[in-house]
Amino acid sequence: MENIAILGSTGSIGCNALQVIKLHKEKYKVFALTANENIDLLAQQCVEFEPHFAIALNQEANQKLKKNLLALNSKTIVLEGDESLDWIASHKDTNTVISAIVGAAGLKPTMAAANSGKKILLANKETLVMAGELFVKAVNHSKATLIPIDSEHNAILQVLPQNKKMNYKSNGIRKILLTASGGPFRTFSKEELLLVTPKEALRHPNWVMGKKITIDSATMMNKGLEIIEAFWLFDIPASDIEVIIHPQSIIHSLVEYIDGSTLAQLGNPDMRTPIAYALSHPERIESGVLGLDLIKTKKLDFEAPDLNKFPCLGLAYKALDMGHNAPTVLNAANEVAVDAFLNESIRFNQIAELIEFCMDTIKSEPLVSIDTVLDVDKKTRYLALSWIDSHKLSA
Ligand code: NAD
Ligand code: MG
Repeated sequence: MENIAILGSTGSIGCNALQVIKLHKEKYKVFALTANENIDLLAQQCVEFEPHFAIALNQEANQKLKKNLLALNSKTIVLEGDESLDWIASHKDTNTVISAIVGAAGLKPTMAAANSGKKILLANKETLVMAGELFVKAVNHSKATLIPIDSEHNAILQVLPQNKKMNYKSNGIRKILLTASGGPFRTFSKEELLLVTPKEALRHPNWVMGKKITIDSATMMNKGLEIIEAFWLFDIPASDIEVIIHPQSIIHSLVEYIDGSTLAQLGNPDMRTPIAYALSHPERIESGVLGLDLIKTKKLDFEAPDLNKFPCLGLAYKALDMGHNAPTVLNAANEVAVDAFLNESIRFNQIAELIEFCMDTIKSEPLVSIDTVLDVDKKTRYLALSWIDSHKLSA
């Protein structure tokens, strides 16, 4: 029996993971569930999956969770305090950590899992963007296992030679092709993009996901973050990571080998497939997802990304090129910008402007520890908020 802790269980990835686990109760035991708020759902999950531990990070919500679970006669112990996530992630009885918190809040507990040698199923790509080098070092040092849930990286893992290290040099890989749907504004002109609203940006054509990643998909920063994620996961130079627009989201990514072969993983756009593969890797288990109907799909389209219309993509390559703390700055500025766009303090096109401003302003420094990373994150947020204050009126 594998004990699983899900960090961010009430989110889109968390809920999908529980659906897959539900199909394999003889194999996987839910050991702990965590969320920020959404207590009714968390309480319901606790009743259904009977974890040993649960916590809602929001204190008020956590008190409510305690009361609800008591009333429901649940045996789940409700923990308290910010350190609880790290404690769960490194608990001796936790075998596997599903890292599915959104944003920078996922970094510390995911690092705790890495430092204690756990099997980490990583959805929280922000961890690799903020602290890729330190995180990969911690994984290697403790002999933790790192498996990506992100559909593109999971697809790449599926088409890499199995039972080998995820390293391109020894595997005859020429390049990695990350597919991107292009988001809801793929066909918009640059002028039209100036006027798009949060409501329009939240309407993703193919995937149902949390708000932050949905906006990231609209700006294409999601693909930018995924370039950085691939860079650290597969130890491949940025110049060998290519993005290709594929509006149907059927091919989840491809690997081109030196012999001219290109291998792809295809499937319906449903996160239960990569979650199931991450859980059972290198075996395969039922995920609840139907197979592809290629006759109905009819055709698969591809186009080159337009970096002029979607500058966030170029900013990700620039951050990798700048190195050191630049990806950390990019991530923090993006999180602040996405929030500001959602509450209509800035326009869509200002998201990229703000990120670039922060990248050009914050001094480059090496990331020597997680504290340095958190410090850069904090500084960037402060700078980004003051930029928003002075640009608000032009919105
Ligand atoms: P979501 O917003 O639906 O869920 C986020 C979860 O994190 C919730 O349980 C929420 O309560 C919790 N959370 C939020 N803030 C927190 C905080 N400060 N402290 C502790 N917990 C907090 O997000 P999602 O769409 O499930 O995405 C989660 C992660 O997975 C993101 O990093 C995203 O980029 C990545 N991802 C998501 C998808 C997808 O299909 N949704 C696909 C690939 C990768
Ligand atoms: Mg993805």
